[in-house]
Amino acid sequence: MAQHHKVVIIGSGPAGFTAGLYTSRASLETVIFEGMQPGGQLMITTEVENYPGFVDGVQGPEMMEVLRKQAHKFGAKSINETILNVDFSERPFKLTSDKEEYTADTVIIATGATARRLLIPSEATYWGKGISACATCDGFFYRGATIFVVGGGDSAMEEAMYLTRFGESVTMIHRREFFRASKIMLERAKAHPKINFILNSTIDEFLGNEMGLTHIRLKDTVTGELSEHKAEGVFYGIGHVPNTKPFADCLDLDEDKYIITKPKSTKTNIEGVFAAGDCQDPIYSQAITSAGTGCQAAIDAERFLMEQE
Ligand code: NDP
Repeated sequence: MAQHHKVVIIGSGPAGFTAGLYTSRASLETVIFEGMQPGGQLMITTEVENYPGFVDGVQGPEMMEVLRKQAHKFGAKSINETILNVDFSERPFKLTSDKEEYTADTVIIATGATARRLLIPSEATYWGKGISACATCDGFFYRGATIFVVGGGDSAMEEAMYLTRFGESVTMIHRREFFRASKIMLERAKAHPKINFILNSTIDEFLGNEMGLTHIRLKDTVTGELSEHKAEGVFYGIGHVPNTKPFADCLDLDEDKYIITKPKSTKTNIEGVFAAGDCQDPIYSQAITSAGTGCQAAIDAERFLMEQE
């Protein structure tokens, strides 16, 4: 028999835990499915300097532990399982994890997003043997190495700055001349003596041997010219894709697969199912905006349950 819960939250980043804090504090029985990456993307971040309330900044994992504790303090429970399938065709909603079946009166989806890949065939050969999408996780393995970072947004700048601790050099590869990154982060990277830039270029091929990556072939996006460079580590900072696969058949998604929510609310196209955080936000993608929409989703869910009663 499926276990029933009043409020089910899928995802354990700032959106999920904030939603859990609000629903449990409103005396609604709440479970949070922590998913494949408990704590979400902030678990692979270093310092968070722009979350209000932390004057001196805070390490991402430490912040997530604080948010988890705060949600648990009011009674929310975490379940270390990943929801793989949902059936929102009738209430109570049905959810299937990697282990069990569950039902819920209301569901808040806060499944976040995952780092994008380039999907060049040779990428798979060298993934984890020279290619990574997480400087915080893998930077340590590249001490004294020749490192490249792909991307021109804030993530790429942040990764490059972090990797200067380890690499002999850090070269940023960006496909255009103009950057999406905020001025302050771009200027910090530009001012760093270890960071170089190669613009108007993309990775055409990864080259190496059985030990791992040794070189990359770059393609100039303007002239089409190819060039080979020694490369022991390549880190991606090229944005994210939303984790919305289990909901593709039942929820309205936009062309990039983000969940569509109704204006000025977290309501999805299914009454009683709400979405918060990066899985529905291709624009801001900040810890604070995720937490904000997590709070909104909890309030929307609370009102929905009240209307049902
Ligand atoms: P962005 O979407 O901002 O940037 C992605 C970058 O990758 C762009 O420069 C894009 O190029 C490039 N790119 C995308 N696909 C490819 C590809 N296939 N090949 C080559 N290059 C590619 O994502 P971010 O993850 O950097 O940032 C997301 C959000 O999170 C932003 O709002 C950002 O401000 C925020 N953020 C804030 C941080 C902070 O304040 N500490 C840290 C990290 C992120 P192009 O520009 O040509 O499209």
